[in-house]
Order: sequence, then structure tokens, then C-alpha cells
Amino acid sequence: MTYKNIVFLVLFLTSFFCTSQTVREESPPKAQNVILLIGDGTGLSQISSAFFFKETSPNYARFKSIGLINTASSREDITDSAAGATAFASGVKTYNGAIGVADDSTEVKTLVEIASKQHIKTGVISTSSIQHATPASFYAHVLNRGLYEDISADMVTSDIDFFAGGGIKYFNKREDGKNLLDDLKTKGFGIDTSALGDFEGIKQYSKMGYLLAENHMEPAAKGRGNFLSKATELSIAFLSKDVDHSNFLVMIEGSQIDWGGHANDADYLISELIDFDDAIGKALDFAEKDGNTLVIVTADHETGGFTLSATQKTSEEGKSYSDYSEITGTFSTNGHSATLIPVFAYGPGSEAFSGIYENTEIFHKILEATNWSNKD
Ligand code: MG
Ligand code: ZN
Repeated sequence: MTYKNIVFLVLFLTSFFCTSQTVREESPPKAQNVILLIGDGTGLSQISSAFFFKETSPNYARFKSIGLINTASSREDITDSAAGATAFASGVKTYNGAIGVADDSTEVKTLVEIASKQHIKTGVISTSSIQHATPASFYAHVLNRGLYEDISADMVTSDIDFFAGGGIKYFNKREDGKNLLDDLKTKGFGIDTSALGDFEGIKQYSKMGYLLAENHMEPAAKGRGNFLSKATELSIAFLSKDVDHSNFLVMIEGSQIDWGGHANDADYLISELIDFDDAIGKALDFAEKDGNTLVIVTADHETGGFTLSATQKTSEEGKSYSDYSEITGTFSTNGHSATLIPVFAYGPGSEAFSGIYENTEIFHKILEATNWSNKD
């Protein structure tokens, strides 16, 4: 090695150690709050529809950190919502139908359980019944997603502080004759089965639950109104109300984007997607003001093989052609698909969500961004 090369080597090593030292000193602040928004069945075409059919600028366009996830479950190439949400909530690949249990049927810790140990308030919101697969995976542990009454019982014993959605009947019209609404009230829950209230009316409760339908909520286009946006804002106000313990984790699901896909009904799908995008806007508005909140928007899987196709028309000469000036939403399946799913992140730690990775990494990246699992 010549003298000149040695000098270069020394300079190189010096700069390397200096750089790594600087990086360690400037490690970014951890996120204090996490808002996880899951658009059930929302692939790239579903998201794209907001850019063509929403009258205002889509809130999806406000993110800078964007990634992709592989959503396959432990046994199937194509996941269902139970395995998909369990991957987010607990960081494990499991079988389709599993709620909060691993492939070997053992219970796995959820983000709600991990965060609540750190005095982080937790909430779940959905436009389905609150016992449906996506929200259930954040607070329940059952072998099969159809066990709605068992899932309701797990809500009572869970650490959830706020919930809003449908599913009254699984609490109070049960096979076992129990009325779990009484049990929830005993645990300190204010329960409202009529409508979302305002913060002033509920702030005296330690916990709050809204059950606004016997089973699922109505579609957005059929009377649900702005429930999801209002519930998003209300959950943030409620979960952050205690000065001593004002940090929170909330999962907000646009449940019925998936159902528009299953029904191959583009209008239903798009109206639900736009409603979900409105809720994303409320989460981002808060996060921008707060500065300590990580917002993640993703989906468990795509539904319907949805495509924004050119409308097929027939010319005067009788020839069929694709009219590139007009979109028709078309579908390739009544079920889910295996396409990679976009992830959007904003706030402290959001950079880590860019790249291509497994759906289970969402769980690990949230814990990394917050440090919730490592605090004592
Ligand atoms: Mg769902
Ligand atoms: Zn589905």
C-alpha cells in the first residue's frame, strides 16, 4: 500500500466513524401517538379512484413515505381480513380466519396489549360490526373469525378505551343470555347506541363505546353520513384527554371498501373509498398540528381485482374500441387478490415505511417508531 493510499484509507475511516457518531446523536424522536387506518380491500386501483372521482384533492396525496407490502397469509397466497389484520396487530403470519392467534393456534400479543402496558390509550373504529375480523384482531383471540359472541366477550376483558362501530346484538342478544353491555358499563364504559356524541358530553367517562347498528353500519351512500370522519376526530379527542396519559393508539377501518369489491359494485366501492379518504384527512390534520403522531394508511389485501378500465364503446362502423376519455370500474374476481398493497406513512418514524416488505413488518415498524415494547 502506498503512502497516498494509506492517507486516503485513514481519511475514509475517520469520516466513517464521525458520520456514524453523528447519526447516533441525532436519532429522531419517537412517535408518541399512532393512528393506523386500514382500508379493507384497498389496492392501488381503489386508491387511484379517489384521484378521478373525488371532487377535492385526495388526502392520500399528502404522504411522502410510501411502501408496498406482501399480504400472503401463513397457509394461503391470498389472505383474508383476519390473517391480514393479525399480521398488523401482532406481527405474525397466520392462517385465514385466525384472530389474534398464530398458525399453531397459540395466542399472540397485540399492539393494543403492548401499548396499554405503557399507559397508552387504545381505540378501534370500524364501519362494520366492531366484532368483524379487522377490528377484532386488535383486541380478541379466537380460532375462527365467525365467533362473534366470543369476540365480544374479549372486548369486555380487553384494554380498549374507545370503540365505535356496529354489532350491538353480539353484546346483548347472545346465545348465553348474558348482557355484556352491563359488563362494559361496570368496567367504566359510557355506552351509546344512538349516535356519536360530542367530546364535551363524553369526557367524564374513563372509557367510551359507540354501538350504532345491530350488526354492520349502513353504507356511506345509504345513511351512514360522515360517521368515520367524526369518530376519528372524537377518538383522538377522547384518547388524548388525560393530561398524564395523553398518548394513544387507534385503529380506524374503512370496512366496506372490501364489500364494494366483493359485490363488484364500483359505485359502492368508490363512495366508501372517498369516505375513508375523508377520515385519513382528519388523522393527518391532527398529526400535522401535533407533530408527535405517526399516521399509517394501508390495507389487508385488495378485493375484486378492481381496474380503472377505459370504457368499451362501439363506433358508428360497428367496431368496438376503448374510449380513453372515460373510466369504467371493472373487476376480475368476487374475492380477494394477491397484489402488493400500498402503505402510506406520515410523522416521526414514517421513513421506515418506504420499501417493499411483508405485512407483518407494519407491527414491527410501529414498535420501532414508538419504542413501546422496549420501555419499562
Ligand atoms: Mg374488515
Ligand atoms: Zn373481503
